[in-house]
Amino acid sequence: MRLTKFTDLALRSVMRLAVAEDGDALTTREVAEAMAVPYTHVAKAVARLQHMGVVEARRGRGGGLALTDAGRRSSVGRLVRELEGEGEVVACEGDSPCPLRGACRLRRALRDAQEAFYVTLDPLTVADLVASPTGPVLIGLVGRPAD
Ligand code: SF4
Repeated sequence: MRLTKFTDLALRSVMRLAVAEDGDALTTREVAEAMAVPYTHVAKAVARLQHMGVVEARRGRGGGLALTDAGRRSSVGRLVRELEGEGEVVACEGDSPCPLRGACRLRRALRDAQEAFYVTLDPLTVADLVASPTGPVLIGLVGRPAD
């Protein structure tokens, strides 16, 4: 199974925010530069994460993006499910629907495999993702200008 680029960018942004010091909010541009990804793509991912209650935007002096407590405790499986949406791993429907789609054992097996993939990620939290060695590397990332 392959995640969308959108999901990957959202998870990268979450991991960067997860290692920010308390009260050290980052801008979207700082996240984009640290993770070496385009600003506009990160902005879209951050907007979605805010809608999901994973990230909050703090206003005023020292403002910026921060992970919410719920976001830090969030299951990676839940995040990936929400970010990926209802899509299946194969395109059975669409412009040229497959004639087997109403009675396909392969489709059922692939749905089960997709669910097993998410279930594997369910016990993992965002906090788990940034334990060593990942966390120290994230903290040490030096941003470079993105798009
Ligand atoms: S063979 Fe089955 S899984 Fe493949 S496209 Fe057709 S319905 Fe979907």
